[in-house]
Amino acid sequence: MIDFSLSTDIINARAMVHMVAETDMRPLSREYDEREHEKPMEWLTMMWNASKGLVSIGGDRKEARGERKAAEKQVRMAVIIEELSWGDAGLYLSIPNAGLGGAAVMAAGTQEQKERFLARFRDGAPKWGAMAITEPGCGSDSAAITTTAVRDSDQWVLNGTKIFCTSGLMAVEKSEGFVVVWATVDKTAGRAGIKAFIVDHHTPGMTVAKVENKMGIRASDTAMLVFEDCRIPIENILGSPEVQQSTEGFKGVMATFDATRPIVAASAIGIGRAAVDFLREVLQKEGVTIRYHVPPTKLTTVERDFMEMEANLQAARLLTWRASWMMDQGLQNSLEASMAKAKAGLAVTQVTQKAVELLGPLGYSRKNLVEKWMRDAKINDIFEGTQQINLLIIARRILGYSSKELS
Ligand SMILES: Cc1cc2nc3c(=O)[nH]c(=O)nc-3n(C[C@H](O)[C@H](O)[C@H](O)COP(=O)(O)OP(=O)(O)OC[C@H]3O[C@@H](n4cnc5c(N)ncnc54)[C@H](O)[C@@H]3O)c2cc1C
Repeated sequence: MIDFSLSTDIINARAMVHMVAETDMRPLSREYDEREHEKPMEWLTMMWNASKGLVSIGGDRKEARGERKAAEKQVRMAVIIEELSWGDAGLYLSIPNAGLGGAAVMAAGTQEQKERFLARFRDGAPKWGAMAITEPGCGSDSAAITTTAVRDSDQWVLNGTKIFCTSGLMAVEKSEGFVVVWATVDKTAGRAGIKAFIVDHHTPGMTVAKVENKMGIRASDTAMLVFEDCRIPIENILGSPEVQQSTEGFKGVMATFDATRPIVAASAIGIGRAAVDFLREVLQKEGVTIRYHVPPTKLTTVERDFMEMEANLQAARLLTWRASWMMDQGLQNSLEASMAKAKAGLAVTQVTQKAVELLGPLGYSRKNLVEKWMRDAKINDIFEGTQQINLLIIARRILGYSSKELS
């Protein structure tokens, strides 16, 4: 049975992170939105020291099934990330940790690889991990990856271009991090030929070609990475190097999304809640109290809109907690992860836009953060699978169609 009450540990963690979000992140929010490509290193280092090893996405299904070690790791993460994103989503995405790269290692790596590649995130100076799937010619259709990995005696040689890689700059050039690069070892094998490779920071042949200027989450870097005869050790392939008839390698991409989609959903909910909280405060100052107990016919439009915003976020939160809880239990959660992401991605875009609308000039002005939250919101409906792609996945899973049958 799902128990929707949070443990004392999670409640305490939420209160602590909320304090950080309110007292540390909010004051930096506008500044690092405007100073895109600059980082509040003092704060990021403080967060690294405080949270080493804590902000890691992705569980180990086998471990969860066997030992229940990870009993509430993902739910805890979802709750924490909602708070951090309530503070500032771009800053949250910039916090040094294994990030999406870590999630990919957890999803596709062996136990030995998890230990070897993720140990660096527990010690020393701040480090970032990143994951590169998207290419100039492929995003939603990740099976169409063209970056190649060719074996040359005891090395893999990578060639190709990856775009929109979150924390790519910090992982490659500014820390001793790594990027997980998805590439094909055999184009004729289709999905079965797609494997993940760990490319260490500063590896010759890997360059940051550009850093994007973006609409939202501007405190987070998003890089284009070019691989030209980039040589990495043979043991840096995640999982088995064998190309079997199965799509085992590609399943690693999908398993990564199972872990990361609820996290993106949690971030979306945090941004949406920020907008709702701000709106409530303004309404209260103007003497408008939301009357939850009067019949719908007696409600004002503002009250009705406000309740709808809250209800949408709460529905998204419940889906997110369910998808996260399933992961913690070692259950297959692809359907639920996509449901959470699709609902939260849409809810946050609608909620933040409505907040700007209801607040009028107060919402539109750069004096307040509401317009920024509206800009930060949209990415949650794009990365880790767009709204349309997640709806497709949901339909396929419910109707029992393969990706070939419904695309
Ligand atoms: C700020 C930011 C950070 C990112 N971070 C990362 C990262 O760290 N790593 C990484 O690998 N990628 C990252 N991405 C890339 C992101 O995951 C892709 O942009 C996203 O998956 C969409 O792919 P695309 O850009 O190729 O769009 P397309 O696939 O070309 O889609 C364009 C439009 O067509 C729609 N569409 C596509 N196929 C279908 C279909 N079959 N049916 C219906 N509609 C369809 C899409 O929903 C979308 O609306 C990031 C992107 C951004 C903007």
